[in-house]
Amino acid sequence: MKVTVVGCTHAGTFAIKQILAENPDAEVTVYEKNDVISFLSCGIALYLGGKVADPQGLFYSSPEELTKLGANVQMGHNVLNIDPEEKTVTVEDMTTHEQATDTYDKLVMTSGSWPIVPKIPGINNPQVKLCKNWAHAQALIEDAKTAKHITVIGAGYIGAELAEAYSTTGHEVTLIDAMDRVMPKYFDSEFTDVIEQDYRDNHVQLALGETVQSFTPEDGRLTIQTNKGSYQTDLAILCIGFRPNTDLLKGKVDMAANGAIITDDYMRSSNPDIFAAGDSAAVHYNPTHQNAYIPLATNAVRQGILVGKNLVKPTVKYMGTQSSSGLALYGRTIVSTGLTLASAKQQGINAEQVIVKDNWV
Ligand SMILES: Cc1cc2nc3c(=O)[nH]c(=O)nc-3n(C[C@H](O)[C@H](O)[C@H](O)COP(=O)(O)OP(=O)(O)OC[C@H]3O[C@@H](n4cnc5c(N)ncnc54)[C@H](O)[C@@H]3O)c2cc1C
Repeated sequence: MKVTVVGCTHAGTFAIKQILAENPDAEVTVYEKNDVISFLSCGIALYLGGKVADPQGLFYSSPEELTKLGANVQMGHNVLNIDPEEKTVTVEDMTTHEQATDTYDKLVMTSGSWPIVPKIPGINNPQVKLCKNWAHAQALIEDAKTAKHITVIGAGYIGAELAEAYSTTGHEVTLIDAMDRVMPKYFDSEFTDVIEQDYRDNHVQLALGETVQSFTPEDGRLTIQTNKGSYQTDLAILCIGFRPNTDLLKGKVDMAANGAIITDDYMRSSNPDIFAAGDSAAVHYNPTHQNAYIPLATNAVRQGILVGKNLVKPTVKYMGTQSSSGLALYGRTIVSTGLTLASAKQQGINAEQVIVKDNWV
């Protein structure tokens, strides 16, 4: 059985390990654009804030490890085309620019996601950064050395962690979000009020309920214009969400409106020889019993393992997710699972809330 894996961060790494554990004779080839695998993006803020000193702690596997397990690991290789009729992939070696075609029996799409970059005037300015992979993390560390003021755009959990990290490394920080609360998807206002006060106490300027309209370079700095104000900064980091990297399969398998591949409980797409896992796929969201797009490493790892378990025959069902997550800001540990009251109401669910305050030991 020839298996081709597209992309090797969490979903890809775990899929490969499980496929080889279940099928030692499988010929597994993985194509990965980058020069590293298994990068823990969740450690970027810890790295920037100096809590992770050795960047090797941000990786848990390597091309060498997967090779030893029996995979054919092709780093620096970009998959350009997938032909599900012929069961082939076209791949470019990014060093030599040579292209080759490879065949597969089963294809595993673990191509993940990429940050959303809206069409805003000036957004391509080099002082506007993304935060996703190891190359981004290195650039952010380097640029922060000379930046006095840093603006984080997007107060989801990634932006929230970056704003905290930079406020503890001697930077002036502004956190902008179009919504009127930080992390509104994860917490109701009883919680976000406390978090917002922590930011203010740590001199983070909150610009909530503001939409960015343009970026203009001025004397080496950047002016960010929102619908309500104007902010001078040295560095802007865009953290407003992710979209699945699935253009290669557009029109070839069923997808949600944002391009997330829809799978069955065994991680099979609408084409039974194409599996998907991680940020390239939708999840079954247990609180609503619907498909949803919730790009989290926890989902990526579980779904990757399930690809390995189910590649030959449907064996272990995906249990869905409650989208549980946790973060630590200014020494406060904050966790959430399932729906907030606000999002339950938004979805027409007749919900109420009970708030319990207790000691934590
Ligand atoms: C800053 C940050 C903090 C985060 N914190 C957390 C957290 O605390 N907890 C949590 O659960 N999740 C967190 N996440 C989310 C988590 O990192 C993602 O859900 C996870 O990385 C998804 O893994 P994946 O393997 O599905 O996809 P990705 O990580 O997106 O990896 C996809 C891989 O596919 C490769 N690829 C794509 N297209 C091609 C192609 N055509 N050819 C070859 N290779 C290709 C890419 O180079 C990439 O290596 C965080 C994300 C970020 C950015």
